[in-house]
Amino acid sequence: MLLRNARLADGAVRDLLLADGRVRRVTPPGVLPQAPERSETDLAGFLLLPAAAEPHAHLDKALTWDLVGAPPGDLPSAIDAWREYAERVTGDDIARRARRALDELTMNGVTAVRSHVDILPGEDPLRGLRAMLRLRDDELVCGARTELQIAVLHADAPEALLREALRMGADVLGGCPHLTDDPAAAVERALRLAGEFGVPLDLHADENLDPSSRDLQLLAAAVTAAGKRRALTEPGQRVTASHCVSLGTVTEAEAARIAKETAAAGIGVVTLPQTNLYLQGRDRPAPVPRGLTAVRALLDAGVALGAGGDNVRDPFNPVGRCDPLETASLLVTAGHLTPPEAVHAVTSGARAVLGLPDAGPYEGAVADLLAVRAGSLSEALGAACPERVVIKAGRVVSRTAVARELL
Ligand SMILES: [Zn+2]
Repeated sequence: MLLRNARLADGAVRDLLLADGRVRRVTPPGVLPQAPERSETDLAGFLLLPAAAEPHAHLDKALTWDLVGAPPGDLPSAIDAWREYAERVTGDDIARRARRALDELTMNGVTAVRSHVDILPGEDPLRGLRAMLRLRDDELVCGARTELQIAVLHADAPEALLREALRMGADVLGGCPHLTDDPAAAVERALRLAGEFGVPLDLHADENLDPSSRDLQLLAAAVTAAGKRRALTEPGQRVTASHCVSLGTVTEAEAARIAKETAAAGIGVVTLPQTNLYLQGRDRPAPVPRGLTAVRALLDAGVALGAGGDNVRDPFNPVGRCDPLETASLLVTAGHLTPPEAVHAVTSGARAVLGLPDAGPYEGAVADLLAVRAGSLSEALGAACPERVVIKAGRVVSRTAVARELL
């Protein structure tokens, strides 16, 4: 396939030749010849970026805000509200909503998604996992469009249940050490199980404003110790810490020290601005603390940083458009990242923490691409025009057109 007249982030206008899922050539416009076997897409007026990845979604909870009601809006009340609904939630309900959110993500430019799925209360605790695995394995929904990774989420589920979930085919082991009585033991068990099954580990870490919360430090220490026996940062054994909110509440020197330990352990961090700006800080009316991890300290230490949408219109967050550019925009205003850093966090940074090879508009890269109608990177981010073309493995998988009339 030929892409014509695409503007790149550096302002240059280029043609691209895509073949076998890769970007093969990038040339000035008009150099690459037409050929009958090549389809062409004219991207004049579009900015071409690496496709976005969603490193942390909860598709099983997505779009339940109108069903579950409006709790006060902090993390414990959101968990309670969800638990009540989760008692009676069915696999079909989960599959329907997850599919809708997944389609939205695809149309907005996301070609890889990691979704956590709860171990549910009730008689059949793995019904949510089964629904999500069916979605993952459905060629029409995922297949050529989206790579979906499923992480099993739990606080302190019995080990037998976690083993069953991993045997059923969950891709990633999740967990929430800070919600257990013994976070150190939870971290140890998680690392041991992930190592045994050869799956990546992705923990909800320190999702609170308590500066003494230590999930990330425990994880870094345990990975460093385990790394002497086994390369836990190899693909398939990657370790990710998501949220890490409390890291944003410690002193600058402390954050820098923990960020250094995190980098040395090879742990990737995922920041989730939308949900954590909503959930955290409600109990402190002034000054309201921000529920963000120390993104600057992490970047300065060389930690792989991805950013995701987390919750979308559910008890944990009533808003959200399944749009990585919305997440990136929040990182500019609330996280004080530059526009290129923010876009990197939802594209190449997110792919890195998911263990995916580099994608983007350059020769040799995986041809997962997002074209947004915009004349520059800052316009793409700031205006976040829904008019987009999404390319996965060298094929157009979604096209959105917009009609506006000013009368
Ligand atoms: Zn989460």
